[in-house]
Amino acid sequence: MKLALTDDAREIRQLPFVDNTIVVGGINIGVLNRSEWAERIIRHCRGDKAARNKPLVIFAANSYVVTLFAVDPVFRAGFQQADAVTADGQPLVFASWMTKHPIPERSATTDLFHDVARAAAAADQSFFLLGATERNNGVAEAEIKRMYPKVRIVGRRHGYFTEDNEHEVVEAIRNARPDILWVGLGIKKQVEFVNRNIDLLRSVGCVITCGGLFDYFTPEIKRAPIWMQNNALEWLFRTWQEPRKYFLRYLITNPAAVFLLLTRTRTSP
Ligand code: UDP
Repeated sequence: MKLALTDDAREIRQLPFVDNTIVVGGINIGVLNRSEWAERIIRHCRGDKAARNKPLVIFAANSYVVTLFAVDPVFRAGFQQADAVTADGQPLVFASWMTKHPIPERSATTDLFHDVARAAAAADQSFFLLGATERNNGVAEAEIKRMYPKVRIVGRRHGYFTEDNEHEVVEAIRNARPDILWVGLGIKKQVEFVNRNIDLLRSVGCVITCGGLFDYFTPEIKRAPIWMQNNALEWLFRTWQEPRKYFLRYLITNPAAVFLLLTRTRTSP
């Protein structure tokens, strides 16, 4: 694997949505805590959709993303289309301690979802759930309805479609007009899907990528214990749960991510 020597953090657009960002592992990350993210997302969605020409796009960065961003120019260009990026992984929060504006807490999408859902319930806002298998997507919808009865789920769709038939998916989302579209298709596919279709999604308030979020509503997939989450060891728990999927990924990308977090973290672009 060849580490690109370019450092493109300055190319990420800075919208007023997040007024304070720092560069962590080469990526511009918002310096906000979870409730601040949720509050700003909801406030943005309250605004007049007709006045905007595209939804707000929020991507999430963890150590794997930091590595992909450095080594894969196509992924980097796609990821740079975000309006704001959250610190999804604890290692990014630890790295931010080297700067003058440390990130106050990790905003793992799996946790941030609940902050946003609570705020959305109070603001009468709606969700569309895109991603995971049909079964897990359905389980997620049922659980979210049970936990947050006031959140309107205006549509849901499993994530196993091809580029050739994604126009049906996009059409369903457009017609549903959700305030927030959660896109959990896996790290690369979700970024590509959002960028390919963003111009068609004007009726959406905010798009948030969420990886395996929907799977965590099923009884089979468990989060790591809190002490592991807080000590940047969630990857170890995941590898133990699904070794075939994660062993090689983390073996290769963890050392690269540590290098990138140590050498490409700074206060300003
Ligand atoms: N997923 C999907 N469509 C796809 C591939 C993946 O909906 O074509 C879902 C998958 O079911 C899971 C989530 O995306 O719920 C994250 O997938 P995975 O963990 O494989 O991707 P990663 O986030 O590790 O890249």
